[in-house]
Amino acid sequence: MDTRDVIRRWEEVKGSLPEGVKLVAVSKQVGLEAIRALYEAGQRAFGENRVQELLEKQAALPGDAEWHMIGHLQRNKVRGVVPFASMIHGVDSPRLLEAIDREGERVGRVIPCLLQFRVAEEESKFGMTLEEARALLESETFAGARHARVVGVMSMATFTSDEGKVRGEFRRSRELFELLRRDYFAGDAGFEVLSMGMSGDYAWAVEEGSTLVRVGSAIFRPRGC
Ligand SMILES: *Cc1c(COP(=O)(O)O)cnc(C)c1O
Repeated sequence: MDTRDVIRRWEEVKGSLPEGVKLVAVSKQVGLEAIRALYEAGQRAFGENRVQELLEKQAALPGDAEWHMIGHLQRNKVRGVVPFASMIHGVDSPRLLEAIDREGERVGRVIPCLLQFRVAEEESKFGMTLEEARALLESETFAGARHARVVGVMSMATFTSDEGKVRGEFRRSRELFELLRRDYFAGDAGFEVLSMGMSGDYAWAVEEGSTLVRVGSAIFRPRGC
């Protein structure tokens, strides 16, 4: 991999984002050389979807790099990731939130978490319905959590070139985000993250209100691969 190309593509992506939209460079399955090059160019936030890979890369990069756990997280993997994750994007049950909270307390960290919604039609996508999110936010687990802090919402759109469909799913995500903010986080400025948009659809996501995009292949992989 030519790291100059990686940096050039990263600059393109970054340059297309409005101020205030955070870029998480999704480095899953990407080697350390390219990640280091991007770090040296100034990127700090990286996204991984496997705990083991996140831990290895976290240990290999300088301590001020941020590691976002963007994939589905099993409860038995929480212990590994909580000491190192800057944010956990895929919280989809009270039990997972509780496990993160317990582990955060044990290691003395507060972990920003996003509630993942299922807005895409594909059956395999993880995430909650509005009813499930309401149940979580009305639970004793949420009320008592001091070390797992819910700071926003995450979603993935259907993988399709149908712009209207993808935008519709992003719009729905934003509605859900605003609904939760109104009903459960009124006056809490910390509830502010709407994580949506990947390589193929981040421009649409940003137009529909995303505050954080998770972009991998558009940075790390040459077009056509
Ligand atoms: C892989 C992944 C991404 C990045 O996907 P690209 O299409 O490579 O940009 C974003 N979010 C999640 C949850 C992912 O698993």
